[in-house]
Amino acid sequence: MRNKSILTEAKQIERAVTLIQLGARLQVLESETDLSYERLLRLYKEVAGKSPSKGQLPFSTDWFMTWQPNIHASLFLNIHEYLNKVAALDEIDTVIKAYRLYLEQTEAQGLEALLSVTRAWRLVKFVDNGMLTMTECSKCGGHFVTHPHEIGKHFTCGLCNPPARAGKGKAAGALQLH
Ligand SMILES: [Zn+2]
Repeated sequence: MRNKSILTEAKQIERAVTLIQLGARLQVLESETDLSYERLLRLYKEVAGKSPSKGQLPFSTDWFMTWQPNIHASLFLNIHEYLNKVAALDEIDTVIKAYRLYLEQTEAQGLEALLSVTRAWRLVKFVDNGMLTMTECSKCGGHFVTHPHEIGKHFTCGLCNPPARAGKGKAAGALQLH
């Protein structure tokens, strides 16, 4: 179920279009569909109305460890893990669905969606290959994105322990993860 299944071409195109609409980079489409590069490039220009941006995908886990991004990434990953348990979807469809729910949540709370769909997709890959995981906060019990070696007993999340310079900013603090 989690493998790239044999999809009809129509389904692949639909998936690619959805990802483009959500703002995914071309590399995500190349990885998640069997459509040719030329085909994807054409689709991208058609749907996005511009050429895809060039350059490398973010390959580092650092971004996910910074304060506000970590809270957004954790919100997304909580939704993703939940969908993984309850819905039998292909892996990329779980990412798409979880990302849409993440957008709904941030919009409902009047927050800017800091996590792009490309980063969300990367995050799931990082978790799959063991470079990142989720650890329970010892104070609030919420689950947050951390490196795998984090010890739950001593871990305090960014909501319970915001950096001093964050002051009274409610931008990230409004998100609840438990
Ligand atoms: Zn906490």
